[in-house]
Amino acid sequence: MNISSAINEGSKFLKSKFISSSQLDSEILMAKTIDKDRNYILLNSNNLINKDDLSNFYDLIKQRSLGSPIAYLTNSKFFWNSKFYITEDVLIPRPDTELIVENLLRLTKHKNKINILDIGIGSGCIILSVLKEREDFIGTGIDISKKCLNISRINAINLNVSSRLKLYKSDVDKFNLGKYDLIVSNPPYIKTHILKYLERDVANFEPRTALSGGLDGLSEIRKVIKKSSELIKKNGKFILEIGYDQKNKVINLLKKEGFYINSTQKDLAYNDRCIVSTKI
Ligand code: GLN
Repeated sequence: MNISSAINEGSKFLKSKFISSSQLDSEILMAKTIDKDRNYILLNSNNLINKDDLSNFYDLIKQRSLGSPIAYLTNSKFFWNSKFYITEDVLIPRPDTELIVENLLRLTKHKNKINILDIGIGSGCIILSVLKEREDFIGTGIDISKKCLNISRINAINLNVSSRLKLYKSDVDKFNLGKYDLIVSNPPYIKTHILKYLERDVANFEPRTALSGGLDGLSEIRKVIKKSSELIKKNGKFILEIGYDQKNKVINLLKKEGFYINSTQKDLAYNDRCIVSTKI
């Protein structure tokens, strides 16, 4: 069988299982199978595919048909300016989270040598994107998951910024190291009982610990705000990702911990998604 017919078969199968991006997904999974990029696939669609590759391809198509996200099947996701190594141990970087990076870069345009803390670093997509753009910034990342820290380390090495990144396995409330010019966090903020209603690809495949914010969705956010108010320098900026219905509650929590609200911002779907504040 040639590449093009295999892709068509894969795409038809995904379509029959109601995967909306069936053609694109099939092409990406073929590229992954034969370890080439999508351009190669399109330019060499008449090349024959060997038996082993074909069976590996069908296996990936099967997993995709059951909802496994493309980022986990290909172990990669593009975010900001870089490709990140991703496994099922980390949340898949979201385009909406690029808002955090955008804010961070804007707020630090004329700063140098600042010290940033990322609480719940996950894949590292936020802080590593910033370290890559700002060559004199220093980063610290913490996470409760050792596997996340390993993935962040791999990404830091791939992006050539690992000498400027320190990583610690810690609960947010137990971490007491250092003082930071800027703190950033995309904590878990989904209400636990809502989790099962998220899209199947998210609910069944992404790590619960990266999503679940307890009964009211705010249990981790509360801890992150409290800890940030202790670890941030005076006048330091704090950039936080929040759920679409949490703006007012989170603003109150921030004010109570001595933060001044600079701005709140909406994501691509026009939901409140990010709060920028300053420790006063
Ligand atoms: N924005 C994510 C989602 O769409 C949630 C991320 C988080 O809880 N930090 O599911």
